[in-house]
Amino acid sequence: MATLKVTDLHVAVEDEETKERKEILKGVNLEMKTGETHAIMGPNGTGKSTLSETIMGNSNYHVTKGDITLDGKSILGMKVDERARAGLFLAMQYPVEIKGITNMEFMRTAVNATRPKDKPLPIRKFLKMLDENLEILNMSDEMTERYLNEGFSGGEKKRNEILQMMTIKPKFAILDEIDSGLDIDALQVVAKGVNHMEGPDFGTLMITHYQRLLNYIHPDFVHVMMDGRIVKTGDADLAKKLEAEGYAGLKDELGLDV
Ligand code: ADP
Ligand code: MG
Ligand code: MG
Repeated sequence: MATLKVTDLHVAVEDEETKERKEILKGVNLEMKTGETHAIMGPNGTGKSTLSETIMGNSNYHVTKGDITLDGKSILGMKVDERARAGLFLAMQYPVEIKGITNMEFMRTAVNATRPKDKPLPIRKFLKMLDENLEILNMSDEMTERYLNEGFSGGEKKRNEILQMMTIKPKFAILDEIDSGLDIDALQVVAKGVNHMEGPDFGTLMITHYQRLLNYIHPDFVHVMMDGRIVKTGDADLAKKLEAEGYAGLKDELGLDV
């Protein structure tokens, strides 16, 4: 079992023009273990993507206080690729396009990066695994030969993030608004992929604005983020309550003035 722990995390970003630092995360606490499914919900602009980018090591986000640990060891000094090799994966809210690298090359490199240098995964085994995952996600193998995300539709990008996750098999996957812009069929396919990964060696953190995704991927824990903090944690019922009463209702209940 692995544990990813965020403790009193404060994160600031720099304004591109004024160069002034603005504090976005104001003391986030979160602990997740493999085998668990967590969801973070919250209004737009509250810091959800900031949290995921910071966990993954995006250098635009400056940790000013607190820590992020994997199995008790701080990862703050690790670069993005080191964090990936340590078992962290982020499906970005806006996946980037990379010209010149095919989707397949990208995944193969990522898979082999987690293995000893002299023991790459045999290509046969890799392709077999890829085929199985493509089938689960209802994707054509033509997708793997295209340049990464180039010309992919919004839905294809999201589906492809899940394909990468299934192929790379991280310990922890953060899915940042994987549901946004998906129709119900695509959403079900994405959920099928995530549910297929479920098991004792895999933990998910789903970031979403809406309860809808949680009808297909059942969370053990639901956290609500507002104004840079997790203000409430509960089970799946909390998401249903939010759907019914909105974030404003919760603000009133907690006496928050944000
Ligand atoms: P959410 O994902 O909850 O919608 P974000 O984490 O994307 O929220 O954004 C939280 C706040 O941080 C917003 O006010 C946003 O404008 C600001 N922010 C996020 N990333 C950056 C950045 N790279 N540079 C400047 N401001 C940013
Ligand atoms: Mg947003
Ligand atoms: Mg976001």
